[in-house]
Amino acid sequence: MQFNKPKDLNELLENLSISQKKNYFLAGGTDINVQIKKEFIKDGNFYYINEIDELNGIKRKNEKVHVGALTTYRELLESDTISEHFPFLQRSLTNFASPLLTTMATIGGNIANGSPTNDVTPPLLVLDAELELISVAGIRNVSLTSFFTGYKKSLLKKDEIIKGVVLSIQAENGYETLYKKVGARKTLTIAKVALAGLKKIKEGKIDEIKLAVGSLNEYPRRLDKLEEYLNNIMIRDINKNTIDEILSKEITPISDLRSDKEYRYRVCLNLILSFLGINH
Ligand SMILES: Cc1cc2nc3c(=O)[nH]c(=O)nc-3n(C[C@H](O)[C@H](O)[C@H](O)COP(=O)(O)OP(=O)(O)OC[C@H]3O[C@@H](n4cnc5c(N)ncnc54)[C@H](O)[C@@H]3O)c2cc1C
Repeated sequence: MQFNKPKDLNELLENLSISQKKNYFLAGGTDINVQIKKEFIKDGNFYYINEIDELNGIKRKNEKVHVGALTTYRELLESDTISEHFPFLQRSLTNFASPLLTTMATIGGNIANGSPTNDVTPPLLVLDAELELISVAGIRNVSLTSFFTGYKKSLLKKDEIIKGVVLSIQAENGYETLYKKVGARKTLTIAKVALAGLKKIKEGKIDEIKLAVGSLNEYPRRLDKLEEYLNNIMIRDINKNTIDEILSKEITPISDLRSDKEYRYRVCLNLILSFLGINH
């Protein structure tokens, strides 16, 4: 194992481009230190990135807000820019881990870790967030919806790092919102089921709906087929059985120590029906 502390982003990117081993980043360290301690990671190049300015800060640029990858949960919870433009996102983050963890855990680390249960991804998915990925070749923007490719797998290349998350300033505008994290407790709990939703209803019709789930698939994802069925439908015409049928193909809950798959499925279905104002 080799530990490096690059002085700035350029030095980091140069190192990544010539590295022969797998690269790991120590941001808040809340995930990776556990993995090292448990010997899930035994070798690699480790970069301490916490003091790299270019990866930090929440900045508005025209109609977009750029959230640096090193932004911690605490900074997101206390940011005026986030509370002004993304109150739904801010509310979604209140049940993250514990106060101690919120001061260390970063948004970039949470996304990159790629856990199916990660808290920040479902709300960011319904906000159509983009990721800025950077390497010596430059920056490329990818939508968060296409970032994950499998369990803990993503489009991030070996020589890239997540620079930040980009949100449109209008992303929450005019929507009714829902974020529900169902766990064993309110704090220090891992989600058994998470649902994020945005909807616009006009004269009894769903004008637009966006739904994303966590803890129900190999990675958090949007419910594309369900959205397709629900967009532009009169609420009175929604068929509960059709929702059930579509959902059963879109989520693949598993049974594990925390919960069983039937419970996870039922909770997710009921949360969606409640969000639509339908009895279950
Ligand atoms: C007790 C405990 C409770 C927890 N509770 C929760 C919870 O409630 N909800 C939840 O979602 N998570 C939870 N976690 C997991 C963890 O805290 C989060 O995933 C956190 O956001 C990770 O961020 P970090 O900065 O600490 O990442 P690190 O541990 O520093 O890194 C994690 C991974 O991401 C990679 N990485 C970091 N930054 C970048 C970047 N900019 N670009 C590319 N790759 C990067 C690293 O290489 C590493 O593989 C918990 C962890 C612990 C130990």
